[in-house]
Amino acid sequence: MATPCCHCRYPTDLRTSWTDANPGRRFYGCSKFGTNKACNYFRWYDPALDEHMRCIVQNFHRRIRELERRQPRGAYKISFKMASILTVVFLVVVFILLEK
Ligand SMILES: [Zn+2]
Repeated sequence: MATPCCHCRYPTDLRTSWTDANPGRRFYGCSKFGTNKACNYFRWYDPALDEHMRCIVQNFHRRIRELERRQPRGAYKISFKMASILTVVFLVVVFILLEK
């Protein structure tokens, strides 16, 4: 799928939602998101998760974040970004397995 352009006519960024309703679900959004020049372009990239999968992803992400908080000072820390990447990798594996 080609990267769509937003209402500003620029290629969009592929972002990841971390809302309770759509944890780990990727979407296209304006590359100027977060600035006062952003448009309101929005389009889902991933299909919606059913309730069961949504709970699994939320729990997976929550547990990684708990591990992050429990890390002793000076130990390798799992950042929010790393937790998010691990969750997206988990989701991709789940989607691949569901398609078989
Ligand atoms: Zn835009």
